[in-house]
Amino acid sequence: MTAYASDGDLQPVLDRAAAGGRITPEEALDLYRFAPLHALGAAADSARRRRYAGTEHIATYIIERNINYTNSCVTACKFCAFYASPKSDKVWIRDLDDILRRCAETVELGGTQIMFQGGHHPDFGVEYYEEHFAAIKKAFPQLVIHSLGASEVEHMARISGVGPEEAIRRIHAAGLDSFAGAGAELLPARPRKAIAPLKESGERWLEIMEIAHGLGVESTSTMLMGTGETNAERIEHLRMIRDVQDRTGGFRAFIPYTYQPENNHLKGRTQATLFEYLRMIAIARIFLDNVAHIQGSWLTTGKEVGQLSLHYGADDLGSVMLEENVVSSAGARHRSNRMELIELIRAAGRVPAQRATTYEHLVVHDDPANDPVDDKVVSHLSSTALDAARAAAGQELPLVDAR
Ligand code: SF4
Repeated sequence: MTAYASDGDLQPVLDRAAAGGRITPEEALDLYRFAPLHALGAAADSARRRRYAGTEHIATYIIERNINYTNSCVTACKFCAFYASPKSDKVWIRDLDDILRRCAETVELGGTQIMFQGGHHPDFGVEYYEEHFAAIKKAFPQLVIHSLGASEVEHMARISGVGPEEAIRRIHAAGLDSFAGAGAELLPARPRKAIAPLKESGERWLEIMEIAHGLGVESTSTMLMGTGETNAERIEHLRMIRDVQDRTGGFRAFIPYTYQPENNHLKGRTQATLFEYLRMIAIARIFLDNVAHIQGSWLTTGKEVGQLSLHYGADDLGSVMLEENVVSSAGARHRSNRMELIELIRAAGRVPAQRATTYEHLVVHDDPANDPVDDKVVSHLSSTALDAARAAAGQELPLVDAR
């Protein structure tokens, strides 16, 4: 670490980053630790404007639904408030009809993407995902299946006795469009072992994503902040992603989010502060010069911080989240709806646009008079996870019929 006599010592690095120049991991760590917050944000915003010259006035959102197929999981991550041990009486599995009903509601509400998300069930191999993705695509060919990640691939391949390449080829052929990048957590070994000791290593996670990118299956990338990792480990996480991206170009976006401390085995650990989160958004925009999109998360940090993230390098505010049960089980309680997200983006000084999974603009809301007025497009959080008994009795709220 360099000792800085004054903020001015960092200005040449900030200027280089703002102009689109590459910075080293050491420089990134120095900026992350010492650069004045507003100067860091200004450099990141310049980098964003430069990348999106011509459309820099736009910030995007997507309408999607997370569909949780089971909470049964053998991996028992310490930060997770969603899973149940496979032998527990709290285990549930959604059947295919239920999953298709959720897809139908997503389409009815204007959603374009589903995130199929669940635990590492001890019996779910490649065949399970092939069957479900094929059925979803047959019934709803217009829905993009942006789901799973390297951890699920590692698990399903092991269950089916095949390699990750074959697993990816088969689920891609069955209907998976892209990987959501789940399971990245923290990639460096020490913090990863501390929070997810049974998960594959960070190197293996990246190796599998690299295989996927090589097969034409792109992904996003994520980072879980605030479980006790050091600043240097956060920057190392970014370096590991940037190195793979230099080879593959397959990461469409980077999405940091903050650890939520309720109902899990890490309860009591310090959460990342909002300033640390904003600094991460900014440093990600600057350091990940080869990743197009940086997503701000209103779900874990709140709507106002989501708005601020748009001034610290983010170009996207994520999803309306028609259904979310994983992060919300651990304490994230922020809810929103389509009209509010549009207003949040507009009030942050940007023109809102609904996007596709691949970030094309589907609808640009450049005239408030033409804004959508459908108040059914609303976040539903922990509709299953907080009330498993009610869900098991089939009383879970249907998003469309309930209104
Ligand atoms: S984060 Fe995923 S892999 Fe880890 S325990 Fe939860 S459901 Fe299982």
